[in-house]
Amino acid sequence: MTEKANIVVIGTGGTIAGQGKAANNTSAYVCSVLHIDDILGTIPHASALASLRAQQLLQTGSENFSNEHLLEIGKSVSRMLARDDVDGAVIAHGTDTIEETAYFLHLTLKSTKPVVVVGSMRPPSAMSSDAAVNLYDAIAVAAHPSSRGIGTLVVANNEIHSARDVMKGNSFKIEAFRSPYGPLGYVIEGQPRYYRHPSRAHTLATSWSIETLALLPRVDIVYAYGALEPEAVSAVVARTQGLIYAGTGNGNVAAHLIQALRDAVGRGVHVVRASRTGSGIVLRNGAQPDDAYGWLTVEDQIPSKARILLTLALTQTDDLQTLQTVFERY
Ligand code: ASP
Repeated sequence: MTEKANIVVIGTGGTIAGQGKAANNTSAYVCSVLHIDDILGTIPHASALASLRAQQLLQTGSENFSNEHLLEIGKSVSRMLARDDVDGAVIAHGTDTIEETAYFLHLTLKSTKPVVVVGSMRPPSAMSSDAAVNLYDAIAVAAHPSSRGIGTLVVANNEIHSARDVMKGNSFKIEAFRSPYGPLGYVIEGQPRYYRHPSRAHTLATSWSIETLALLPRVDIVYAYGALEPEAVSAVVARTQGLIYAGTGNGNVAAHLIQALRDAVGRGVHVVRASRTGSGIVLRNGAQPDDAYGWLTVEDQIPSKARILLTLALTQTDDLQTLQTVFERY
């Protein structure tokens, strides 16, 4: 018999740590109350998959996560992964911003050991809760050698997603997570099965290390609509270093907002044209003359991922060309 992997399970709160008054409370319940030990207590059979060690790092909904929380989670996971007696990590996390934390770890951790971020859409107390199965699947994925070296993963609803691609695409259904190019694989009865691997750079191949990151620059997202006023854009510009413009369609910018976004560049704020559609590509110099305006464009990154990417990029450079290559590389 081969030795079991040593997996650290880190609790940070969220629905997976939530509790409702009754089993039919699938949406009305209190988040972030159960200790990670209690959640693990619901899946005693997980000890057949791995030797488990639990750590309660935070206890809050992921909607509250600031850049400081990302740094805290990243540094703590990194310390764990550096240990010889740790083979991988599972982070139990709220689902709201799981796509951001996972992407941040994907780009900044310097390890090939599996890191799996997992949440649930229903608390353990609810009917047909996905908490136990998702955590069990996450441990199975983290413990399996086939999960090494492919970056941070998000496991939910029997699917394994790459942190680069995954997004929460539904507010209440168990089938809430999607990746535009599909999941990397499935988990069935404690066995991951992969069908493809991420092609963009991550972990060891990125230029960021969680160990050396300290203060992160401020990057904000502005969600576009026809009636958006230039004053709203300027208010954000006044207090940020980078602005992800979640434009309509192919990153379109309303005619009356072009000057406000050009003024932003004049004030030293990096403007990134993105799309609010949730998938697809923004073509550089397509709908707008980005070169002429000094704007950046995402490639296919949705606004929440673009914020993480620009935040990290701005820790190393201010140069427009170099910043643009980041969207093409990661
Ligand atoms: N508000 C919760 C969170 O993101 C929702 C969840 O976990 O599903 O932490």
